[in-house]
Amino acid sequence: MSDRIKSVLDQDTFSKTDLVTLLSADEELRKLVFAKAEEVKNLFVGNKVYYRGLIEFSNLCGKNCYYCGIRAGNKNAHRYEVTEQEVLDAARYAYENQFGSLVIQAGERSGVQYVKRIERLIKMIKQMSNGELGITLSLGEQSEETYRRWFEAGAHRYLLRIEVSNPDLYPKYHPNNKAHDYNERLEALYRLRKVGYQVGTGVMIGLPFQTVEDLADDLLFFQKHDIDMVGMGPYIEHENTPMYEHRHLLLPKTERFYLSLKMVAVLRILMKDINIAATTAMQAIDPVGREKAIKVGANIIMPNLTPTKYRDDYLLYEDKPCTDEDAEECKRCLEARIHMAGGEIGYGEWGDSKHFKNRTGKP
Ligand code: SAM
Ligand code: SF4
Repeated sequence: MSDRIKSVLDQDTFSKTDLVTLLSADEELRKLVFAKAEEVKNLFVGNKVYYRGLIEFSNLCGKNCYYCGIRAGNKNAHRYEVTEQEVLDAARYAYENQFGSLVIQAGERSGVQYVKRIERLIKMIKQMSNGELGITLSLGEQSEETYRRWFEAGAHRYLLRIEVSNPDLYPKYHPNNKAHDYNERLEALYRLRKVGYQVGTGVMIGLPFQTVEDLADDLLFFQKHDIDMVGMGPYIEHENTPMYEHRHLLLPKTERFYLSLKMVAVLRILMKDINIAATTAMQAIDPVGREKAIKVGANIIMPNLTPTKYRDDYLLYEDKPCTDEDAEECKRCLEARIHMAGGEIGYGEWGDSKHFKNRTGKP
């Protein structure tokens, strides 16, 4: 098996079978995969890690994804929306601490007032920072017009996870209706690209019913769609969601974590110049999970800048980390841990996807 893994790692192109082989590496053999990913990362994107200060803007959501703790149907969730002033305070903190960029994430909503509010916030953040803070949005599926308005206001990257690239599996995790339609989500990814965003997507790893073959297909999906950035992490159960009833099918959390780490490493080997995030869900299982992800291929980290009073309410899954640490504490411990993982922080830089630049020829 070790010879097979070594020969796959020497290849330039990878079939689904090759990817399954790499993702199936055991505790000993995965070290080979991790070492190769580290080498590829240093060669193609370097050891810089870019900060995206995360603002969990609101947990109000009109959708009902079966896995998510802030789904509309969870009547136990206490709903909030961060005020304009608080968003600006967080943005100023990011600016003054040279974070380079912000991510604004929230449940999915539409409506004229909401679209306007986000547009106004983007403009205010841009103005406050003399255009220097980069803005990534993660606000779900929207119309082309909405995507365009937010883009023109100053956002330039957008994250919309496909969640699971197999259309047959999609309905297992979502209600079967127009608001939760696989093709609609795919169309939304196309719309984002058309408008001009750097497009990010991703999946959850270790979902019930999902196989390692599905995960290999997820990686091929990112490649086929020439994606600029990926954010993916382990699925973690939440008691007040319909998926909780399938928890007996889940891998133990540590195995889900290592499977996620292998996904990051194999993706880096497959798509050498994209941006890959070390996600919060990795930290939820392993306190230094994000740093481990950085070591094996990730180059983006999203320190949480949501005002602490709201953090417990943006509870997508159980054991979400850092909910009581303020931004300053997060920043200090993170910096030291990134250095320990061999990373250097790209302070004040946008850290845009090299893949986007190579793909479009844009600076
Ligand atoms: N509402 C937007 C959307 O769904 O695209 C953005 C916010 S949503 C909370 C961000 C991501 O959280 C989703 O894309 C999903 O992958 C992830 N997520 C939700 N529930 C999760 C869970 N139980 N475990 C791990 N990740 C989860
Ligand atoms: Fe809403 Fe996003 Fe959660 Fe789905 S994953 S319920 S769209 S917040």
